[in-house]
Amino acid sequence: MNGEAATAPLYRKCDSCGTPNGVIYHHREGHVEHYCPRCAQRYALYDTAYFQLEAQVRLAVEAWVGIWGTSPGIIDLSEQLGQIGGKLLDEYKAGTLAQEGVQPFRLAA
Ligand SMILES: [Zn+2]
Repeated sequence: MNGEAATAPLYRKCDSCGTPNGVIYHHREGHVEHYCPRCAQRYALYDTAYFQLEAQVRLAVEAWVGIWGTSPGIIDLSEQLGQIGGKLLDEYKAGTLAQEGVQPFRLAA
């Protein structure tokens, strides 16, 4: 347990929505906040979804580096991934991004 969690009060208002029933929530990056059960569920869901996205992108980038790693190389990888993300977001907003198999997610509580 890190020092921040050790000194944080057990209960406090939710740092996300302000309801009075916030409890300690440990983020993957190590910092601590207080979330009510509903916000904690939402953050855990987002965290898991983005972790899975990172894992899938990592596999694609590792395969790409195996082919293109020396030329053009990975010097501007961050910029390239940012541009790809921007294109995909534009397509998503325009409704042209392939979403086959997308199903609505129902919260457990
Ligand atoms: Zn909340």
